[in-house]
Amino acid sequence: MLSRSIPCLWITFCLHLCCFVDGGDAQNAKEVILLDSKAQQTELEWISYPPNGWEEISGLDENYTPIRTYQVCQVMEPNQNNWLRTNWIEKGDAQRIFVELKFTLRDCNSLPGVVGTCKETFNLYYQETDSEVGRSLRENQYVKIDTIAADESFTQGDLGERKMKLNTELRIIGPLSRRGFYLAFQDVGACIALVSVKVYYKKCWSIIENLATFPDTVTGSEFSSLVEVEGMCVSDAEEEADNSPKMHCSAEGEWLVPIGKCICRAGFHQKGDASCGRGFYKSSSQDLQCSRCPAHSFNDREGSWRCDCEDGYYRALSDPPSVACTRPPSAPQNLVYNINQTTVSLEWSPPADTGGRNDVTYRVICRRCSWEPEECVPCGPNVGFSPAQSGLVDTYVTIVDLLAHANYTFEVEAVNGVSDLSRTQRLFAAVSIATGQAAPSQVSEVIKEKVQQRSVQLSWQEPQQPNGVITEYEIKYYEKDQSQKDRIYSTVRSKSTSATVNNLKPSTAYVFQIRAFTEAGYGTYGPRVEITTKEENTDITLSSWLMLSLVQFFTCLIKLVSFSHFHHLKSCLHHKADQEGDEELYFQCTKTYIDPETYEDPNRAVHQFAKELDASCIKIERVIGAGEFGEVCSGRLKLPGKRDVSVAIKTLKVGYTEKQRRDFLCEASIMGQFDHPNVVHLEGVVTRGKPVMIVIEYMENGSLDAFLRKHDGQFTVIQLVGMLRGIAAGMRYLSDMGYVHRDLAARNILVNSNLVCKVSDFGLSRVIDDDPEAVYTTTGGKIPVRWTAPEAIQYRKFTSASDVWSYGIVMWEVMSYGERPYWDMSNQDVIKAIEEGYRLPAPMDCPPGLHQLMLDCWQKDRAERPKFDQIVGILDKMIRNPNTLKTPVGTCTRPISPLLDQSTPDFTAFRSVGEWLEAIKMERYRDNFTAAGYSSLESVARMSIEDVMRLGITLVGHQKKIMSSIQTTRAQMLHLHGTGVQV
Ligand code: AMP
Repeated sequence: MLSRSIPCLWITFCLHLCCFVDGGDAQNAKEVILLDSKAQQTELEWISYPPNGWEEISGLDENYTPIRTYQVCQVMEPNQNNWLRTNWIEKGDAQRIFVELKFTLRDCNSLPGVVGTCKETFNLYYQETDSEVGRSLRENQYVKIDTIAADESFTQGDLGERKMKLNTELRIIGPLSRRGFYLAFQDVGACIALVSVKVYYKKCWSIIENLATFPDTVTGSEFSSLVEVEGMCVSDAEEEADNSPKMHCSAEGEWLVPIGKCICRAGFHQKGDASCGRGFYKSSSQDLQCSRCPAHSFNDREGSWRCDCEDGYYRALSDPPSVACTRPPSAPQNLVYNINQTTVSLEWSPPADTGGRNDVTYRVICRRCSWEPEECVPCGPNVGFSPAQSGLVDTYVTIVDLLAHANYTFEVEAVNGVSDLSRTQRLFAAVSIATGQAAPSQVSEVIKEKVQQRSVQLSWQEPQQPNGVITEYEIKYYEKDQSQKDRIYSTVRSKSTSATVNNLKPSTAYVFQIRAFTEAGYGTYGPRVEITTKEENTDITLSSWLMLSLVQFFTCLIKLVSFSHFHHLKSCLHHKADQEGDEELYFQCTKTYIDPETYEDPNRAVHQFAKELDASCIKIERVIGAGEFGEVCSGRLKLPGKRDVSVAIKTLKVGYTEKQRRDFLCEASIMGQFDHPNVVHLEGVVTRGKPVMIVIEYMENGSLDAFLRKHDGQFTVIQLVGMLRGIAAGMRYLSDMGYVHRDLAARNILVNSNLVCKVSDFGLSRVIDDDPEAVYTTTGGKIPVRWTAPEAIQYRKFTSASDVWSYGIVMWEVMSYGERPYWDMSNQDVIKAIEEGYRLPAPMDCPPGLHQLMLDCWQKDRAERPKFDQIVGILDKMIRNPNTLKTPVGTCTRPISPLLDQSTPDFTAFRSVGEWLEAIKMERYRDNFTAAGYSSLESVARMSIEDVMRLGITLVGHQKKIMSSIQTTRAQMLHLHGTGVQV
């Protein structure tokens, strides 16, 4: 029989002579050590129970420094239960405690005759107390921290190499509430030498930043929490108004996000003390020297921090004291115009004097004047300016939608950063213009009067601006389901504001559009109106069907003959629209988004954009979430003649008000206008039954933020970039349509089973009532502050560029697997930090190119941010060249277990058997694996189904899951290493 003293002696021997494969442990400046067994050279005198279990032994470390260690090696006898307890450790201010263990462990395979008794793990416990509790040891008072397995065990052969395989394991405990604690080690029959035990917590050490001192601060209790710390101004400094200094201590003991600052009190300078003489100034305590007053400024006092502007010269709010004072520009020159019916183009040359600034832009003032006597009024909101009415950088503008036969004056003014400060007279160039004849404006208010099997009766309102006498309306229609290539347009004309369109097919969806005709020509078509004709009467006989067809045929023939003009012939059965250039417009203009709120009757908006579904086609299966207006369910939709599909069904709760119904259906009116693979697709609505429902394509993986948090660290960078690319493509489509989302965030992106991400949540994009992140800001209105661009928070400037800012935040959320942007900082601090130039740092493992793109999205000047089109291009390039997505060497990386097949992940990426079992959700069998001695992933990779059954895993489903993961891994190992493990 093997003597129990042999392995023990062997360990002692090794401790004396071996060279540890260890990086050394230079103490981290952020750590506060509570216990370091290596630092103690006298006896540790921990409690060992039973007394013949753990033994305290002296040794030498790799530097030949004497150390104290504990060893145990009861491998021959079964049912071992040897406890070792440290002395009491007072925790001080700490809330999260780090325990670093260094140990060696002997491989059971290398010991003969120990099968069944030798183990390769031990257990780590702790007990919290307010004071020392004496030397008795009660097992049931200890809380288990973890089972510790060795990454590397050593064998007898290693002895020859004199190379000790030292394992280092780190565990975190907390939050702790008592004054101190004990650590305990339970051995159940392994051969272990505990070489060092280090216990510490992390602190941000006191620093001085922005003239404020920040005291030593203990990190928070959670990994993601930041501790906010107020700074104290250094002597002779004071807090800047409304900008008190703050910093945030991270869980890693690093100071993050400085906000606010102190400034030197009046009369004090940060460095050097000479005050500035007349004609000189020093604007900041950071400056070391006084400077001469810049051009067009002066001062006649000593010790000034800035110079005053001469009369007629000004400084813009954003101008630093170091720049010259400036004045408004002179008027633009050479203003010329061009008029085409009711469209006017203006062009001019820059002013002779820019006022000394390079931020000159132009604004146009439009007035409509009566002929006699001449009185002018502002043009109002119906007139359009392209590219804009003010802030024009280029020297031209086009003004559209003017009234026909009207008199207008246009004033073009050059402005710069100080124009609004000047009280001198405005200087501008002006022209007076009379418009010509114009075509009528759009027909938009179309009403379905009567829908039959083969006919539809429509009525509509005269356009708002007829611009003459309307002599005729043209109704164009086509079958909705025909592809664009095969589409046949038909037209019907009417002298009045109603018409009946006959000869339609039953049960068929048609699209109708109407335009008006005056002497000046045709107006543009109004919005598309979709109407489905009634179902065919089933008792219609074959002969009556034949009769109908014959009647239809002859009707069309008669019409063809009666249309004498070729132009009309073409419009009866044509592939082209019949007005010159119309086809170009019809097929090539991008579709634009129509705000449902512009409809007087919101019901009409819903039916214009969303299909009314029959409630009997919908089967509700289960509740999957809660929306603002009622439950969100999953279910099936089976439309006649189509296969059934999975859908999400949003319901409107009973007892709703009319406003709630309108707001609820508003989402459908918006979503129904979109058709893009990265925007959630609306199937239709049920408004004619109860409950009122919105039916949407089903997105199996729910919202992106929760999905990423659930799968933390499980995707490759390429997969994450693929998701981001999808979101960017969806946003490109929406911005091309002129739709501004205003609430783009990972929680508003849905993910389907193929990991395709789609933009959603169009509900109340104006008010965002349903977003728990939205809070009231000082400018009024609710805003999800962390996701919103500064200009949108400050003055509600929501544009596609502010959506780009939010997209940058979504990128950060995705790359950090659903971390909360700006962690637990308050909204007020986020606003301040952004204003002061702080931007979120790169998440762990985030390739620098992606972080740079985020920073570009967070440019303060919105014109500098990339457009969605460019973002898609950049991400495409990265996906094509994956080398650009590599994280540079030396950065911290997290293990990735590619989520190719979630049900059976391979475990080449896991560090321990426990971690692997957790990933495949089989952690309940952790003790079975440990007890049977499967402590390394290599040993698990060799297991057969019989081995798995021998562990006591009886459920067939679980056996299959474990085996499937093992087999995937073997294949992966063989692929990775050529030879891989022996199987
Ligand atoms: P919402 O009212 O749009 O915020 O939806 C509430 C919750 O229902 C979301 O957070 C999702 O988890 C779920 N949900 C909404 N729409 C869908 C969908 N199309 N597919 C799957 N789940 C959805």
